[in-house]
Amino acid sequence: MTNQLKTYPLKDWGHDIQNPLIIAGPCSVETAEQLDKTVEGLAKQGVKIIRAGVWKPRTRPNTFEGVGSIAFPWIQEAKEKYKVKFAVEVASPAHVEEALKNNIDLLWIGARSTANPFTVQDIADSLKGVDIPVLIKNPINPDLALWIGALERIHQAGITKIGAIHRGFSNFNDTHFRNSPMWQIPIEFKTRFPDIPLINDPSHICGKRALIPQVAQMALDLNFDGLMIESHFHPDSAWSDAEQQLRPEDLGLLLASLKTRQVFVDDLAFASQLQSIREQIDDTDREILELLSRRMGLVEKVGEYKKINNVAVFQIERWKKVFQTRPEWATALNLNPEFVKELYKMIHTESIKKQTEVMERHLS
Ligand code: PEP
Ligand code: MN
Repeated sequence: MTNQLKTYPLKDWGHDIQNPLIIAGPCSVETAEQLDKTVEGLAKQGVKIIRAGVWKPRTRPNTFEGVGSIAFPWIQEAKEKYKVKFAVEVASPAHVEEALKNNIDLLWIGARSTANPFTVQDIADSLKGVDIPVLIKNPINPDLALWIGALERIHQAGITKIGAIHRGFSNFNDTHFRNSPMWQIPIEFKTRFPDIPLINDPSHICGKRALIPQVAQMALDLNFDGLMIESHFHPDSAWSDAEQQLRPEDLGLLLASLKTRQVFVDDLAFASQLQSIREQIDDTDREILELLSRRMGLVEKVGEYKKINNVAVFQIERWKKVFQTRPEWATALNLNPEFVKELYKMIHTESIKKQTEVMERHLS
């Protein structure tokens, strides 16, 4: 089933890996004037697809929940005046109906909706027989299956122009990002569905302007197909997400500064060099695994001795020492000590598991 997921036809829109699809626009439509000024600025920067929230899913009540349907005449006017397409978030069949009635070109499903299969199914049912591109944001929780499931529901409704948006995942204590990118999840998505366009939303990942360039560049380096970025003619007075929106001029500067990379390389010398380095990496990985296997063998041996001498598996003093020395050794070897700390947490968990198995084997 999953293999049958069709793709959003990027080529039809004149985009490829070197010309990423750019969707930009305000977090929310606020007033006719705000929309006009913002779209005017974006059109000047060459943006062809505008995002605009009409109905806003807010975490807390009594915050601005979008202006609703009064936005559509303003959107229609901006479409005609600046020759742009519009993308709007839909979270219910009523939203779908209104968006379609009002000539919206693209729909997207927000992160909170993707997390709820009932909502996604309702939206899917309301899209039967409709031919419109639908972009599906990742769910707020880091669950790849839930994200894929939402794509499948929309696809099963007959929508063939499907794309995915990576907007990061809710977190409790990541003070750097508003939503942790957890890049391994979109990478896994891209590996499984190489043909489905994957768009990065650095605005909702970062939560603040200053971080956006590095995340957007990271996405392009990972072969994302496009970017969705929030932009407002006067971000500081925005009614929602003020800290993460960029002025259209700044968005233009950002777009000009991003580097796209070549994915398929024809140069033979380059290809053989790459091949040779990859072979060395394969050999090194094999050595790492042989060493790990030797380490686990030693761990089992220690388990045997602990068992014979009736000593508990977990010994805090020993663990403290391991946990202190390994990051120090790592630093001396020019490795990131934080990375090595994480690695040793996993190695330690596995070692405890192995020793517990040894203990149980002896008991039976
Ligand atoms: C948005 O795009 O404005 C939005 C609400 O995003 P998300 O669904 O990613 O939180
Ligand atoms: Mn927003």
